[in-house]
Amino acid sequence: DGSMVIIGGGLAAAKTVEALRDKGFDGAITVLAAEAHLPYERPPLSKDLLAGKAEPAALYPFDADWYARHRVDVHTGVRATKIDRAGRFVLTDQGSAVHYDKLVLATGSRPRPFPGDPEVAYLRTLDDAQALRARLGEGKSLLIVGAGWIGLEVAATARAAGTQVTVLEPQPLPLVKILGESIAELIADLHRRHGVHLHLGTGVAGIDVGDAPGGRVRADDGTVYEADTVLVGIGAIPEVGLAEAAGLAVSNGVDVDAGLATSDPNIFAVGDIANHDHPVLGRLRVEHWATALHQPAVAAANLLGHHEQYTRLPYFYTDQYEFGMEYRGHASGEDRVVIRGDTDTLDFLAFWLDADHRVLAGMNVNRWDDGDDIAALIAAGTPVDPDALADPAVRLDTL
Ligand code: FAD
Repeated sequence: DGSMVIIGGGLAAAKTVEALRDKGFDGAITVLAAEAHLPYERPPLSKDLLAGKAEPAALYPFDADWYARHRVDVHTGVRATKIDRAGRFVLTDQGSAVHYDKLVLATGSRPRPFPGDPEVAYLRTLDDAQALRARLGEGKSLLIVGAGWIGLEVAATARAAGTQVTVLEPQPLPLVKILGESIAELIADLHRRHGVHLHLGTGVAGIDVGDAPGGRVRADDGTVYEADTVLVGIGAIPEVGLAEAAGLAVSNGVDVDAGLATSDPNIFAVGDIANHDHPVLGRLRVEHWATALHQPAVAAANLLGHHEQYTRLPYFYTDQYEFGMEYRGHASGEDRVVIRGDTDTLDFLAFWLDADHRVLAGMNVNRWDDGDDIAALIAAGTPVDPDALADPAVRLDTL
């Protein structure tokens, strides 16, 4: 049956293992996971876990017993350092060499460091989240550089804990490049209403970390902000070093075909690092939970000799205060936005349309029954009447 090796310790690694066993693979499975933990899910790191409402145990899709029962050898705290494609083995930082017949890369992302690499806080791992959690609360201050998804979620969680929160964002509105002005404005208002000191159009010129990870942040307008904790959330970088050194095709991530194979047919890539040739949407790398959740089943099928393509639409969700939403599809802030429902009460749908009125993406805010209809509208790829789309009296499944 051969042997499968998976490099990575996130959701994509865990789901790859599960899919291989589900589909009947009976051979050896080895997982090399650099963190000290079994593979776990990250979304709660900025939400319930950071708020103290969830325990770390809730983050693991499978526990040690599950891996043992499924005869999976998980090596935590072991980092793969080199892939030898000719000899088909992986070298590790423990000095071991692990043979593979087929290899899956699920190495995920790391936070983009602030220039000069000051000793600020980042949020990517369970350890990061637990350290940050201890720094939130009444009488404490947090300065967040970057109003992206993670920065905003942390702002919301930190405010709920009574922390004084300041956010600096160089763009004129948070997430404006993705969501467009109207929705970005609504998100900015939401955070202001909850007491976040949100400074938009404000870049950071420098960070002096005094009592790390606290310090002084100098904005490019000369203002100096001081906080007990400085958290930088300016994006993530895919961990493609291993793939690159092994001579695999790498561009914006590890290039994979529609079935998630890399340029080496014995090596697949899934999750955050996969720069996927999406059969409908074209080349796409998606740094979201649902991709790590669903790509592995397709990769596993193909590793076992099937011919499947990954065709799902990107999917993302967030929770910030009373704003809970799901987003499907792939659009940009430049696309036309159509709103259906009431933005004041945060009970609405938003759609992003191309010039021909085709639905590229849809968001449901605090409504949970419209997901399938939204996905169907995007998948149909046919023009819709924007007025009908905006009219709650017109059923979505009749458009
Ligand atoms: P990762 O989860 O990054 O896991 C990769 C693992 O591989 C890491 O443990 C890493 O240490 C390990 N690794 C890397 N290199 C090596 C090596 N050489 N050897 C061995 N191991 C290695 N997405 C959403 O859709 N919704 C959300 O609400 C959401 N919230 C998030 C909140 C936070 C705080 C973060 C950080 C992310 C969030 N995401 C969210 C994104 C989502 O978590 C990622 O898309 C997902 O984790 C990707 O899974 P992955 O398995 O590809 O990679």
